[in-house]
Amino acid sequence: MDHFDYRDGALFAEDVALNAIADAVGTPVYVYSTATIERHVRVFREAVAGAGNGDPLIAFAVKANPNRAVLATLARAGLGADVVSAGELMRARAAGVPADRIVFSGVGKTAAEMALALREGIGQFNLESEPEAEMLSQVAVGLGLTAPVAFRINPNVEAGTHAKISTGGSEDKFGVAYDRAMAAYDLARSLPGLNVRGIAVHIGSQLTDLAPSRAAFLRIGGLIASLRAAGHAIVSADLGGGLGVPYDPSLPVPPSPAAYGEMVREVTAGWDVRLVFEPGRLIVGNAGVLLTRVIRVKPGVTYPFVIVDAAMNDLLRPSLYDAWHDVRAVEPSGERFTAHIVGPICESGDTFAKGREMDRVHSGDTVGFMTAGAYGATMASTYNSRALTPEVMVSGDKWAVVRERQPLEALIAADSLPPWLDEETA
Ligand SMILES: *Cc1c(COP(=O)(O)O)cnc(C)c1O
Repeated sequence: MDHFDYRDGALFAEDVALNAIADAVGTPVYVYSTATIERHVRVFREAVAGAGNGDPLIAFAVKANPNRAVLATLARAGLGADVVSAGELMRARAAGVPADRIVFSGVGKTAAEMALALREGIGQFNLESEPEAEMLSQVAVGLGLTAPVAFRINPNVEAGTHAKISTGGSEDKFGVAYDRAMAAYDLARSLPGLNVRGIAVHIGSQLTDLAPSRAAFLRIGGLIASLRAAGHAIVSADLGGGLGVPYDPSLPVPPSPAAYGEMVREVTAGWDVRLVFEPGRLIVGNAGVLLTRVIRVKPGVTYPFVIVDAAMNDLLRPSLYDAWHDVRAVEPSGERFTAHIVGPICESGDTFAKGREMDRVHSGDTVGFMTAGAYGATMASTYNSRALTPEVMVSGDKWAVVRERQPLEALIAADSLPPWLDEETA
């Protein structure tokens, strides 16, 4: 459920008319709803309350939406952070996430990133290989610190989601292969500077069926028992993120957080560990819209092309994952038509929807791409020399720009000339 609703024929975010934001900030622009984010935190927290042996840690997957205002909203609600780079770690800290609630995931952590995280005192490193454990051991010993670690296990289950967001198959690059797990833990125990304390798994994103997660968690449960039998003290189990959100109202709704929580409770009963969850999309997906204006409607052979001022550089998901976003006129006329919705970028892939039945729109109308709060602004680029998309946060009847539109002059000034081309120094 979200807080984007029509009032007297105009789409609002909470108590703010989206057209007021489009007029003031210009388009394209991302708009986030605080009430929606807070609601999703509450729903997820209630769904997993009491699971494991105490208060689970909910570590928001920062890559889904790293805007500092979003992270600060989540930090204030008591969430931790799942980070995959030095940049995400620093953003989470800057937004007020306590270091001990930060988990460092990712398949290619560098020594410099490890040192930064160790100095910050983060809660856990989720290691993805034996060589990574060896590098972390060296870095920790060099700093005179101890690294709390878990291994991310690749359970070899197919997540049944889009190939580009499936991470738990044996040929995916993520995690330690299930059959190598015992050897990896034995090695880590022998290395100085590591405190081996946990286990982790994450099989993919936009999961719309609980069965693959359940199968993965069952395998993790089996491994916890074997590891303990071999003398490894496993006190935490990180079950990752991945629960899907509804994008297309014509498709079945993904399993609810409550159903997910129930499955987790059933599978993990008796594990005697602190559970960690890393939801990303579920927390912020429905909490964001991308507002864009129709530049013009161009006649086509079968359907007209609605050319909008947002493009694949602002919202990559349709182009990257064939993702479906609901498209709504901010002030619909009541008429409908079928159209292709495209951006101005010089790529056929810059297409948001093909043959979409939608509100009839004209040049100058504002439309919203719904459910754009996750993997939206964070994947934006400046391709075609388009400025990075600004972001706005709404709370009740208040709103604020939380990322300014980058002036084109700044975009251009970021490049510099080598001396042989620079007339001033040549
Ligand atoms: C991306 C990612 C998540 C979050 O996935 P969502 O589908 O957004 O919930 C969690 N954990 C890890 C390790 C990830 O890579």
